Amino acid sequence: MGTSRPKSRIVSAGHREFNRLLNRLRPMVPPTGWEVLQTLQSNSRGGPLILAPPHERVLVLAPHPDDEILGCGGATALLCAKGRAIRTLIATDGERLPVPGVQPLEVGELRREDALRAAVVLGAPPPVFLGFGDGSLAAVLNDLSAVISRHVAEFRPDALYAPWLFDAHADHRALAMAVALASVPATTEVWGYEVWAASPANRLVDVTSVWDDKNRALGEHRVPAGVFDTAGHLALNRWRSIHGSGSGYMEAYFALHFSDYSQLAAELRAASPYHPA
Ligand SMILES: [Zn+2]
Repeated sequence: MGTSRPKSRIVSAGHREFNRLLNRLRPMVPPTGWEVLQTLQSNSRGGPLILAPPHERVLVLAPHPDDEILGCGGATALLCAKGRAIRTLIATDGERLPVPGVQPLEVGELRREDALRAAVVLGAPPPVFLGFGDGSLAAVLNDLSAVISRHVAEFRPDALYAPWLFDAHADHRALAMAVALASVPATTEVWGYEVWAASPANRLVDVTSVWDDKNRALGEHRVPAGVFDTAGHLALNRWRSIHGSGSGYMEAYFALHFSDYSQLAAELRAASPYHPA
């Protein structure tokens, strides 16, 4: 219909003007006020909640060294700056990443060193390396979930950050599924982060203030940087800002209480050939 075009132009012009106003206000608004403004902006279109990560104790779960930065390095940096407790488990050494002239064992060692340096940049404790085989997590779901259960019991996190259930890498989906099989209190939050596939996010974290830290931490992951271009992953963080003021960077999460998360995962396991049975 011809009449709809002028209307959509007016709406988008108003939206851009509102974003310009928001961005001009930013230096004058305290961080919590900024979150509220951006969430109002997001909610006006039924978008995700924009908030600082509210957790006191977070168990970060990464399939490979670098996922803990790509997926949730910004939120982790924000939490570390506030003195919150972080424990990071890295399931594999990522030793199957093809690096010309370097044997898998050595690739794994180098990637552990990468992750240790990256944690220092974020101010996070050294990660715990679980040593499962890269590319084989779907075959060890029960062992993996037992390890997660033990760390949950010891560390008592109020949230787990893990790959979201439909990530486009089999190890990522397997780790997401192992979380669902672990013993976790029903009200503990599971925040699924995105690496190889964009998530239907219901939580966004504005990581603009720690963007340099996230990039420096990712820069410490020298092995993957020589194999694939992480700028593509980081573009997801730039794109996510469309839900707020349109400037800066955001990390997206699909967050559920564990009781709902485990129920959803069980239904996926039963119905989806895309998920480990
Ligand atoms: Zn990965």
